[in-house]
Amino acid sequence: MSKEGRVCFVSVDVEHDVGTGANKEFHGVTEMDKILRIFKKFEIPLTLFVTGDVLQKYSDEGKKWAEEYEIASHSYSHRFLNELSDSERREDTRQFLELYQRIFHLRPSGFRAPSHIIDTEALKVLEEYGFIYDSSVVPHYPPFKKYRGYKERAPREPYRTGNIIEIPVSGQIFGLPLAGAWIAGLPSLLYEILFTLYAPDFLTLSVHSWDVLRDEAFYSKLEKVLLMLKQKRYIFKKGIEIANEFLSKN
Ligand SMILES: [Zn+2]
Repeated sequence: MSKEGRVCFVSVDVEHDVGTGANKEFHGVTEMDKILRIFKKFEIPLTLFVTGDVLQKYSDEGKKWAEEYEIASHSYSHRFLNELSDSERREDTRQFLELYQRIFHLRPSGFRAPSHIIDTEALKVLEEYGFIYDSSVVPHYPPFKKYRGYKERAPREPYRTGNIIEIPVSGQIFGLPLAGAWIAGLPSLLYEILFTLYAPDFLTLSVHSWDVLRDEAFYSKLEKVLLMLKQKRYIFKKGIEIANEFLSKN
């Protein structure tokens, strides 16, 4: 372990419920407190990557979240960047910024691409619009899992790409993610065994707003994973803190 200690970046992607593509529904968003309560119990600082769709519909909730959490961008419309032209990407970003500034009177620092689909051109757009960091790249992922995003090799700890700091979405051995669906599907004992074998210096844990709709078993597994990370002495930081610390050292 490096002498600065192990760092974990915990985030929630706040968006329409999965599987409600055409007629977006937001039950996960309206019930978000269920999962926020757990992170609060473990005193974990959070970054929320929120879509413009959500901010527009739930701006009062957005203001409330902003009192405690970092609010970053998850695009306006949650359309996958590989399906948008360059000008459509810019338009989506511009609309998001306009809405964000209207609600919070400041600019967002961070971005996460829908479905983690990012490329070099998209990073340049973020740079143009004044973002400080991106957290979309998945540098390693479980064998046989199809990943549509970034194709190049990438570091597993924060790094610089152009003028943007990339906070990669980094998991356990073989890239096993600490993410809602995986935490729900795997026995928490498996994570405990893996972390006994290897506790990476840098790691991300991410859930979605719609993960709150899962059953009680999910919540108890999530608590077990968080407790284990605390026992492994992970320090939890928001995205903007991680980016600023990287900038101050590099
Ligand atoms: Zn998303």
